[in-house]
Amino acid sequence: MRIDLHAHSNASDGTDSPAELVAAAVAAGLDVVALTDHDTVAGHTEAADAVHALPAGTRLTLVPGAELSCVVGDVSMHLLAYLFDPAEPAFAAERELVRTDRFRRGRAIVERCRELGADISWEQVERIAGAGSVGRPHIASALVEAGVVATVSDAFTADWLANGGRADVRKHETDPVTAVRLVRAAGGVPVFAHPGAVKRGRTVSDQVIADLAAAGLAGLEVDHIDHDEAARDHLRGLAAELGLLTTGSSDYHGARKTVRLGEHTTDPAVYEALVGQATGAKPIGG
Ligand code: AMP
Ligand code: FE
Ligand code: ZN
Ligand code: FE
Repeated sequence: MRIDLHAHSNASDGTDSPAELVAAAVAAGLDVVALTDHDTVAGHTEAADAVHALPAGTRLTLVPGAELSCVVGDVSMHLLAYLFDPAEPAFAAERELVRTDRFRRGRAIVERCRELGADISWEQVERIAGAGSVGRPHIASALVEAGVVATVSDAFTADWLANGGRADVRKHETDPVTAVRLVRAAGGVPVFAHPGAVKRGRTVSDQVIADLAAAGLAGLEVDHIDHDEAARDHLRGLAAELGLLTTGSSDYHGARKTVRLGEHTTDPAVYEALVGQATGAKPIGG
């Protein structure tokens, strides 16, 4: 079983449509893929339709999910949420709040970039993002188009879009204890995404992780491209101490990042345990 529990489509900052993501998951030999777009479930229906349309003999299970933008003090963090009821009103309202504020903040970032001499426009970013939940990776793609930086990842420096960088502007983000409770109340299962991704900026303390565990966190994403061996060892120890599951996943973003689907995977027993905790939705297909 090859299980990848973190992937993005063009419903947020990935480049594959949800149907293309499903096809890519089959091509990568995955048995299970989770669709976890930032603050949105807009890709779920298309992905589910694509799974149902797979030819007989092709088996892929889709885990509908999302990745929520959260903040502790001024440290941003991401919370993966699986198999929640997308119609549950309190959690749906919070996702909507974050998505809406992404537009205000996106315009402000474009304005900052222009002041700093980058010839990009909001119209260009809108074209790049399409219907997707708009974020810094779309603006990074605009900076690449304008020849300001060579790659999307080169835009995530202090000069431009990195956390606290010259052109970074904050968006509304949810307190993660509140987010964990919202996910659970919607029948979903919350997992802390890349908790030790120091290359993205500051990370939260172990005490915050302990507080989230007490609030209902189910697991930590340990095997992730942004974690070195020391970070993984530390997180595995912490998970054991706090009674949390540990997952592995690619955080695939299509052509916007170099990571491949299935580059990191989750143990089947852990996957079964996560599914067993969910009451808001069921995995699709397979
Ligand atoms: P936003 O949600 O608009 O705040 O943008 C955050 C997204 O930017 C993350 O989900 C990643 O896809 C991307 N990102 C953050 N840090 C980096 C980095 N250092 N290199 C490349 N992409 C990054
Ligand atoms: Fe992303
Ligand atoms: Zn993330
Ligand atoms: Fe992600």
